[in-house]
Amino acid sequence: MSDPQEDHSGLERALRAEVDGEVRFDAGSRGAYATDGSNYRQVPIGVVVPRTVEAGAAAVAVCARFGAPVLSRGGGTSLGGQCTNTAVVLDWTKYCNRLLSVDREARTCVVEPGIVLDELNRQLAAYGLKFGPKPSTHSHCALGGMIGNNSCGASAQAYGKTVDNIRSLDVLTYDGARFRAGATDDEEFERIVAAGGPQARLYQGLRDLAGRHLAEIRRGYPKIPRRVSGYNLDSLLPENGFHVARALVGSEGTLVTVLRAELELVEVPAAEALLVLGFDDIYAAADAVPALLEHASPTQLEAVDGRMAQLMREEHAHLDSLERLPKGDSWLLVQFTGDSKEEADAQAHALLRALGREEDDPSVALSDDPQREQEMLRAREAGLGVTARPPDGSETWEGWEDSAVAPEHLGDYLRDLERLFDRYGYQQASLYGHFGQGCVHTRIPFELREGKGVEAFRSFLFDAADLVASYGGSLSGEHGDGQARGELLPRMFGARLVGAMGELKALFDPGNRMNPGKVVHPNPVDGNLRIGADWRPEPLATHFAYPDDDHDFGQAVLRCVGIGNCRTQRGGVMCPSYRATGEEEHSTRGRARLLFEMLDGHRDTPVTDGWRSTEVRDALDLCLACKGCRSDCPVGVDMATYKAEFLAHHYEHRLRPPAHYALGWLPLWARLVRTAPGLPGLANAALRAPAVGRLGKLLAGIDPRRAAPLFADRSFQEERNAFGGPQPDPSDPRTVLLWPDTFSNHFHPHVARAAVRVLEDAGFRVAVPDQPVCCGLTWISTGQLATARRVLQRTTRVLRPWLEAGTPIIGLEPSCTAVFRADAPELLDGDQDIARLAAQVRTFAEQLTGHAPDGWQPPRLDRAATVQTHCHQHAVLGADPDGELLRRAGIDADVLDEGCCGLAGNFGFERGHYDLSLTIAEQGVLPAVRATSPDALVLADGFSCRTQIDQADTGRQALHLAEALALALDGLLPDDRPERTAPRPRPDPATARRTAATAAAAGLTVGALLAARHRRRARKETP
Ligand SMILES: Cc1cc2nc3c(=O)[nH]c(=O)nc-3n(C[C@H](O)[C@H](O)[C@H](O)COP(=O)(O)OP(=O)(O)OC[C@H]3O[C@@H](n4cnc5c(N)ncnc54)[C@H](O)[C@@H]3O)c2cc1C
Ligand code: SF4
Ligand code: SF4
Repeated sequence: MSDPQEDHSGLERALRAEVDGEVRFDAGSRGAYATDGSNYRQVPIGVVVPRTVEAGAAAVAVCARFGAPVLSRGGGTSLGGQCTNTAVVLDWTKYCNRLLSVDREARTCVVEPGIVLDELNRQLAAYGLKFGPKPSTHSHCALGGMIGNNSCGASAQAYGKTVDNIRSLDVLTYDGARFRAGATDDEEFERIVAAGGPQARLYQGLRDLAGRHLAEIRRGYPKIPRRVSGYNLDSLLPENGFHVARALVGSEGTLVTVLRAELELVEVPAAEALLVLGFDDIYAAADAVPALLEHASPTQLEAVDGRMAQLMREEHAHLDSLERLPKGDSWLLVQFTGDSKEEADAQAHALLRALGREEDDPSVALSDDPQREQEMLRAREAGLGVTARPPDGSETWEGWEDSAVAPEHLGDYLRDLERLFDRYGYQQASLYGHFGQGCVHTRIPFELREGKGVEAFRSFLFDAADLVASYGGSLSGEHGDGQARGELLPRMFGARLVGAMGELKALFDPGNRMNPGKVVHPNPVDGNLRIGADWRPEPLATHFAYPDDDHDFGQAVLRCVGIGNCRTQRGGVMCPSYRATGEEEHSTRGRARLLFEMLDGHRDTPVTDGWRSTEVRDALDLCLACKGCRSDCPVGVDMATYKAEFLAHHYEHRLRPPAHYALGWLPLWARLVRTAPGLPGLANAALRAPAVGRLGKLLAGIDPRRAAPLFADRSFQEERNAFGGPQPDPSDPRTVLLWPDTFSNHFHPHVARAAVRVLEDAGFRVAVPDQPVCCGLTWISTGQLATARRVLQRTTRVLRPWLEAGTPIIGLEPSCTAVFRADAPELLDGDQDIARLAAQVRTFAEQLTGHAPDGWQPPRLDRAATVQTHCHQHAVLGADPDGELLRRAGIDADVLDEGCCGLAGNFGFERGHYDLSLTIAEQGVLPAVRATSPDALVLADGFSCRTQIDQADTGRQALHLAEALALALDGLLPDDRPERTAPRPRPDPATARRTAATAAAAGLTVGALLAARHRRRARKETP
């Protein structure tokens, strides 16, 4: 095996010189690619991201010259360890991801290996076609990876596995042979042999191999729909057309590199119907499958058990889908397709009749609403995420997660498997999967942190392999062998067939340089474990409490199970930086992997300097701290919190980047600006004056292309203190405390004013703190956590009368409100005032929809609106009450599902982030705003979102929902661009001219102040 610590500088230089692509041998890249979705971990030698397929081939040639192993990688979602290796990793997904051609008549297309399945199908939709196989990871798995693993999914019931849908492959062997492989009739075979060369030698070897092992192959390959284990020697049988491409499918990068693939496509069905049948337990559901298949030909036949449903309930996941399940403990989801709704429904009704069940049985649910169906099927797809980290804190692992038997043996196999679980003490594993094809998914609570547990894991796998073999089944029915099942293959196929597989490997890769240690000549099933008995991470003192992770940062980092949902390109929020860069290191998973390496649990970790690591810092630098992962990652990885934690330690006792002082201390600067009349105007003039503004931004670490937000002449609190009258009694049930966040207070006081107008209209009496208060958000996002804690403690002292009276605290700015609900309780774990604050804080919409006096109705707006939900609202607070308020105000809301606006607090202002910030915005939010009709509203409650929309070239300004409602109350909403009547701070050109000189002086003073604070802060900032 290659040693990652060896000197590979010659290889790196040659790759840089000869390959058109990104060549990365740095510790950060190697750490980010050290694991896939499996239990295994091997640190790569380096990573190459080829710009073209030809460049990828050139990279393999360089590796071959140096004898370096190679590993191709798509989405890296493999569960058997086949996508981790001490090799040069070729990541095909960033550039080699094109659909090259489509033949509508022949229903085929040609793709590059890095194209993601959903993206392919999106492009094929224009032709009414799609690629049939569909793994649960369809939003981010790549075709190269699907071919590597012979992937499939629920749709295999109708369309088969990837192997059944491959017409031909352009492949490259390690020693440089390149050819197109496909079905090979005798004439074609003779032509290839006559041409001579490496392809001829290979084909002769293949025919010889298939001939010598003909009988074993015919006998030894199980005749079941879901055999994915082993190489596809059966594709070389004459009756299967000596299909060399299909023999290479599922070879997991161990035989060839796939450069292009010609795929067979299927028509997109016109209509679907979903029949759900409830059963007393999962065994009864499995027993029902054969009869069901006798009477019907469904396009999917999936199973969900009661344990998974229970976990969904506990994790509040897919609750809508659960509500739609009929009576029962376990369920079969049977999907039919047809040319019309009637045709699909008719098949479902026919099946019900054949089974003697009625549509109105409590244990039956039938739907032909595509949206409902997709919701139900998505709940099933989410199985791994839901079962990975049960709320009771236990951990479950892959390893025996996709075995398969003939459907007629499924019930008996499951009962035996459950007995085996009992024998090993593996309780409470959920059993679900593709029951129509006899494939069972489960995650098992293996104990992989100590020797005895690892021994038991190994022993269980061998026993389970014997069990499935005794049923004539397959170790893997879907995910492939990799390292998890390579060693077990003889139990299923016997020594002779495994020997034949070894011969196949020797033909294509005699030097064992293609993804070595996987499938054949495998590393042991309990080797190279990501955790393992020798994992010894450094215990770390932290600022956040991590109450859901045993108060342990390491545990929090380990949440990431590698599913890769953070690599999706569309929908939801996670992960904007990956969407914009296409880089593993800038995905949630890449960052979690790097933090895992930073824990220093393994001797060969490439990240050796702990919290001081520059690799981890650089990977976290492009994290927008949007918290999208906190809600969208199935296991709740909260990278924004980990980033804040990391920054706190990384810069402990050190100077920070200037933006941490300029933007991290924004609430303080905003208060300073209020210390003398006229200062806000002066500051605005200074910030907008060309030369002084540029200098100020340079000193403050702000991108010169960003316009600084303008201070309002008077803060909201100043206004209230001057004209607000006496504060209402905190204990009056009508009293609410309006939270004067920095943004609504100093920059957009009209938002706070508008909120008061609406809250009072709803019958509330609005109090506003008369002293400075702050949630600490900007200190948290820049990792100045000791300061954030002090700021929060000071705030709770000011808020004490309202906290003690239980007064609702109304937040207008989603990120500040989210701090109170999420960050503050973790930062000040056990602080009773913080707990009160978290319990009492409400969003504006929560207050109005849930607590306004009966009979109050919001003013009617009666128009359309484009609505951008702030990421922190999406992740922490939820937006259902906002939807309700919009509906009651007569707004036809188009709530964008385009993810982050790209500004994300300080992120988009910081030098070096401007381009990424706009790229993210242009991926969805800004085009949607531009497309908004002039008479419709653009609504965004987040100051960042409003600023990004204001500063981009959209011709529109976004309003806070409170502003829109207040304008409606006052009858001030014009038809065209209704935001025109909303007040906004504007630069005053006269002041700008008059104060240019003074501004220069002020700029320099602020600079000097910053520098002095720099030094003092660096000394003070300790955990
Ligand atoms: C939550 C979860 C659910 C899953 N559900 C399913 C499911 O429903 N059905 C299913 O089949 N699988 C499933 N999987 C497994 C996995 O997602 C699929 O096999 C997927 O198709 C792999 O695609 P990928 O792009 O991530 O491949 P990768 O993991 O990147 O690679 C897979 C293999 O292909 C090889 N490879 C990649 N590109 C090339 C190339 N150009 N040339 C040669 N070899 C190459 C790799 O070396 C590796 O051995 C699931 C995994 C997870 C984590
Ligand atoms: S961060 Fe979450 S979504 Fe991304 S790979 Fe890890 S577990 Fe999956
Ligand atoms: S906080 Fe946002 S940008 Fe950062 S990793 Fe999570 S989803 Fe990605």
